[in-house]
Amino acid sequence: KLYITNSPFADFMVIVAQTAPGRGLKGMSLFVVERDTPGVRVSAPLKKLGMGASEMAEIVFGGARVPADQRLGSEHLGFVEALKVLSLGRVASAAQGVGLGRAALEEALRYCSQRMQGDAAITGHQFVRFTLADMATRLEAAWRLTLRAARLVDAGSDYDCAASMAKLFATETCTHVCERALHLCGAQGYMRESAAQRFYRDCKVFEIGEGTSEIQRETIFRHLAR
Ligand SMILES: Cc1cc2nc3c(=O)[nH]c(=O)nc-3n(C[C@H](O)[C@H](O)[C@H](O)COP(=O)(O)OP(=O)(O)OC[C@H]3O[C@@H](n4cnc5c(N)ncnc54)[C@H](O)[C@@H]3O)c2cc1C
Repeated sequence: KLYITNSPFADFMVIVAQTAPGRGLKGMSLFVVERDTPGVRVSAPLKKLGMGASEMAEIVFGGARVPADQRLGSEHLGFVEALKVLSLGRVASAAQGVGLGRAALEEALRYCSQRMQGDAAITGHQFVRFTLADMATRLEAAWRLTLRAARLVDAGSDYDCAASMAKLFATETCTHVCERALHLCGAQGYMRESAAQRFYRDCKVFEIGEGTSEIQRETIFRHLAR
């Protein structure tokens, strides 16, 4: 299995494996697997575009045998249970998107307020002010969607669709805001020491992990159509 976050130092991993071949998604179960199980190998950390503070690697299960008492949850319903965790993770991804977007907005606001052209800061340009205003407005909308999904989770209500909407909108907003922030920071934003370029490299993964934007749109449509 490729692209597993924290696998370079995890002692335990939770995997979903086929336990009833031929029964599709209703024939899979969750297992806790110890890292030192014979046959389990973790590769060297993979090189990524961003998210330098977290490591990921490939895990190979070469004939690894796992006893039945390491099964988590119900037999054959592991995929369904894993989806519940994924759905909850989508609310967290949305919040991460808002957080990163806010950091990018702050960085752009700081740069634009301090960057002087002649006697005036570049916030004197309408383009700069309007871009910052749009970034803030989109982030606020993303935050409201995130809070709505989180409240449904707290209330024990069905939150799948709300989680997908929040994740879709917040992570795409984050990418947009990080791109605009780098643009507003000009050449300084493009330099390796700038926070803006780091935000720009970090943001994209939120649209990919925990189900890509397309998977969120499929989930939202399924709820519309039922
Ligand atoms: C930094 C990072 C950390 C990760 N950590 C983990 C982890 O800890 N655990 C884990 O299990 N995974 C992890 N992943 C993997 C991640 O969950 C997958 O990359 C993600 O689900 C997308 O799958 P894929 O890469 O196979 O994309 P692909 O399936 O190759 O998709 C490629 C493109 O095609 C589109 N596409 C694919 N299928 C459809 C469809 N049915 N309809 C419409 N469009 C479609 C996708 O949206 C995407 O744009 C991580 C990935 C990254 C980048």
